Amino acid sequence: MTLSPPLAARWEALMASLRRIADLHPDALLASSMGVEDTLLIHAVAQLPRPLGVFMLDTGRLHAETLAMVDVVRARYGIEVRVMHPDPDAVRAHVAAHGEFAFYESVELRKACCGIRKVEPLRRALAGRTAWITGQRREQSVTRVELPDAQWDDTFGLQKFNPLALWSADEVWDVVRALDVPYNPLHDRGYPSIGCEPCTRAVRPGEDPRAGRWWWEQRDSRECGLHAGNLRTSGQPGVRPRDPIPTDTTETSTS
Ligand code: SF4
Repeated sequence: MTLSPPLAARWEALMASLRRIADLHPDALLASSMGVEDTLLIHAVAQLPRPLGVFMLDTGRLHAETLAMVDVVRARYGIEVRVMHPDPDAVRAHVAAHGEFAFYESVELRKACCGIRKVEPLRRALAGRTAWITGQRREQSVTRVELPDAQWDDTFGLQKFNPLALWSADEVWDVVRALDVPYNPLHDRGYPSIGCEPCTRAVRPGEDPRAGRWWWEQRDSRECGLHAGNLRTSGQPGVRPRDPIPTDTTETSTS
């Protein structure tokens, strides 16, 4: 299947953006939760002249289907996904103090768990890097409606690029299907957003795509600390646009 002209233009703009990011930040890392946006970006970076590194955070609470995507990516693209794990001592201490399912008890305990299992490993993954890339999109959540395509990440102290910020879910899926991009089978079981197994449920038709993430919390608290800037107001630190992704229309797609 080939891309329609509008989608081909979207795809070429994405590839141009990624090439530009790779030129400016050859040490940039792509963060992957193995959701469909991330595997689309893996498909894209695999076609760069020199692919960027890819990592994922294995929190110890992921679905088996999500973990299995590491092998899928290796087999399809020859890319070794760097899997980051939490500090086992910190996990043990947290579980001993609060239990295996403390995240259901309060936002504070949920954020503490995310801090240990996600944020600290992410900080290690990004240490010494100048940029990272995410698959976030504006329409995913009320916390992402002002998401810029590039921003200075105050939390981790490096440039952050969100090259799919303006993409719709339909555009993502149309490109994935047209280019035969592998995707997490959980998406076919009602999970538009992929997270930890005990903190993610399938959503019903018509529900917000992230309604299944930390569904017991208020909608405006549902970020895990990886994208803490999304919870701040536009114009405040963390969402300050900087170094927007240039679109060089003279470049041609390598896809
Ligand atoms: S999503 Fe849930 S299980 Fe995963 S790190 Fe956060 S609180 Fe812990």
